[in-house]
Amino acid sequence: MSSKNIGSVQPFQYARFFIDYNEQRTMHSLKTADTLESFRRLRADLEKQTIAAVLCECMEKIELWEGSSEFFLNILKELEQSSQPYLIAALFFAHMNRELGIEPFVDGCASCGKMNQLCAISLSQGGFVCQGCYHSNDKLYEKEELKSFRILCKAQLVHIELLENIQAWSYEHFLMVYRFFAEYSGISIRSIRFLKHIAAMGEE
Ligand SMILES: [Zn+2]
Repeated sequence: MSSKNIGSVQPFQYARFFIDYNEQRTMHSLKTADTLESFRRLRADLEKQTIAAVLCECMEKIELWEGSSEFFLNILKELEQSSQPYLIAALFFAHMNRELGIEPFVDGCASCGKMNQLCAISLSQGGFVCQGCYHSNDKLYEKEELKSFRILCKAQLVHIELLENIQAWSYEHFLMVYRFFAEYSGISIRSIRFLKHIAAMGEE
């Protein structure tokens, strides 16, 4: 707590660390830490902070890919600025699903390929399903909601501004994407439980 570097080692900070590297050791002493981006507004907002904790936990547990740190830095910047934090969280997990090759099929019925009479999202069948392929444990949605889900699955970070303006994005939208990650990634995110509480509080 008395370290001069304390200001740069807070949660959700982007910082540059200089360490005294010693090949013989597994622990190296920290010389200086410079804050590059403090994300102060993100840390001042409980909902955004909770989302950031979920995303950080995911980054900690996932196998990193080329460009992953740049991607994540962009996500945190967007989360800090955005008026629709659940949109950013949904896009983050849509990206993770694509990285892991577990993205849902949203170009027709995941079971029979039919393009019309789509009525639900099926975790077990891997995406949209039509009325004929619908099982009772699949989740029924209105057409508009299915459309929103498809947009989330296809969108990239460059589309954020556009998406922010077309509709309100809720915790449920985020969950539509997150459920596939939770089911198929093999990665369990503990901080999601707190986000669930925060989202429920926001709805009251
Ligand atoms: Zn079908």
